[in-house]
Amino acid sequence: MRLDTYGWLVLLEIALAVPTLLSLVFIPAPYGRHERKGWGPTIPARVGWIVMESPAVWFFAWVYFLGPNALRPVPLVLLALWQLHYVYRAFLFPFLLRAEGRRMPVTVVAMAFLFNLLNNWVNARWISAMGDYPADWLSSTPFLVGCALFLGGFTLNVTSDRTLRNLRAPGETGYRIPRGGAFELVTAPNYLGEIIEWTGWAILTWSPAGLAFAVYTFANLAPRAVSHHRWYRERFPDYPAGRKAFIPFLL
Ligand code: NDP
Repeated sequence: MRLDTYGWLVLLEIALAVPTLLSLVFIPAPYGRHERKGWGPTIPARVGWIVMESPAVWFFAWVYFLGPNALRPVPLVLLALWQLHYVYRAFLFPFLLRAEGRRMPVTVVAMAFLFNLLNNWVNARWISAMGDYPADWLSSTPFLVGCALFLGGFTLNVTSDRTLRNLRAPGETGYRIPRGGAFELVTAPNYLGEIIEWTGWAILTWSPAGLAFAVYTFANLAPRAVSHHRWYRERFPDYPAGRKAFIPFLL
């Protein structure tokens, strides 16, 4: 990768992972169960999710279709995988949430929105302009391994989101101990799924942009998984003792 504007922006994304990780270890992002006063004006959580995640659909597609390789088969497959995740996250997940009365600070939404612009630009630009994928890339080892991780991570993420959602009846706002499946091993299989998914993306695109996003996703979600884990332990005396935060048997 050359150190032109593109290269510097990829490095910027990787560099941002460091302060993100360090700050989230001490200050959990103030939404959901970690919501607290002092973060300025708020908006309904559902609206927040749509606003901050939707650039990954429309902005990504716009940048992608400006690229010279946009109509080639391999970039189109990569586009479809990306959009599979983000159509779910931006336009299905917010409507499925049981988040009555939940609000989100505009600061959180704004930071995520800006991060998405950067991340979407480097990734979309890579797959339709900078990356050079031969027609047989779809049968290459990096693509097959990465794709298995991506789809496996996506499945874990979506099914874990569903388990969490079903812990509440419509209109309820409290918390219960999640049980079953990957929740028997870790507190946050939704975050583990997301980390696996974007690691898969890094491998299947074999790109610096994919690597930057995988690193950033880890920096963003690993400390949040640990904060959630601590939160459950402090509130539920019967929280399963052997359950880890997000890496089975380890952390
Ligand atoms: P959480 O696990 O904190 O919450 C998900 C939903 O489930 C919320 O509506 C939450 O309610 C509810 N919930 C969680 N635990 C319980 C429980 N024990 N009992 C009842 N309800 C519960 O996830 P996030 O909101 O942080 O993230 C949502 C999704 O977005 C995840 O799949 C995550 O992977 C993804 N994400 C990805 C990021 C990335 O960097 N790529 C960044 C952030 C999120 P409430 O909000 O009221 O707590």
